[in-house]
Amino acid sequence: MQYPNITVQIFLYDISFLCYIITNNTMTLREETFIMKLLEDRIRKDGIVKEGNVLKVDSFINHQMDVNLFDEMGKEWKRLFADRPINKILTIEASGIGIACVAARSFNVPVVFAKKAQSINIDGDVYACKIESFTKKRIYDVIVSKKFLSKDDHVLIIDDFLANGCAVLGLLDIIKEAGATVEGVGIAVEKGFQRGGKLIRDMGIRVESLAIVESMDATTGEIVFRK
Ligand code: 5GP
Repeated sequence: MQYPNITVQIFLYDISFLCYIITNNTMTLREETFIMKLLEDRIRKDGIVKEGNVLKVDSFINHQMDVNLFDEMGKEWKRLFADRPINKILTIEASGIGIACVAARSFNVPVVFAKKAQSINIDGDVYACKIESFTKKRIYDVIVSKKFLSKDDHVLIIDDFLANGCAVLGLLDIIKEAGATVEGVGIAVEKGFQRGGKLIRDMGIRVESLAIVESMDATTGEIVFRK
């Protein structure tokens, strides 16, 4: 049921966009709001707010994956980062991989994912950093093979969530170690009430989050998005 739903929504949206162009003769705002609205509606419908500032979206992002939705997200990041010479997408296992792979189709570039590793296996052939997992409250060693990231790379980081920013900061460390260039960060759901977004934007890095949760309440289930 999800596939026709999205197709129908895209069709209706395209019609209204056409009307919008005819009446306003401008192309600002609308495409951006389409995917934001699609994602926000889906989060409102299927997202579950858990205690501890955790938003569960495992029926369409983290476990079962709505690839048509991912495809629209990829197209939107491609549009937003059109001016950047991106030749590689970097994400982190596990939940970033699905979104990154589908988004990579819009960019026509390879995806590299940072692997969680045992410190014992870390040798000189890899870039390594430590990342604290927001959901599992554990610190992981994370590695990327030197074969797959170099100073010639222009990298877009993609992840499902941005909370306190540990995952993105770790990936930024790895990119820095490789001497590669960070072109930006694409996030599906940013929890705007946590510090990651501000932290990374304050570093001068462009962050494009498709939905930004301003607040959420585990008791009522209410989710408010940033406009
Ligand atoms: P951060 O490193 O920014 O604190 O957290 C980002 C990472 O933690 C993401 O890779 C994501 O997998 C996980 N994460 C953070 N917050 C949430 C959440 O509310 N729901 C889910 N499902 N994952 C989250």
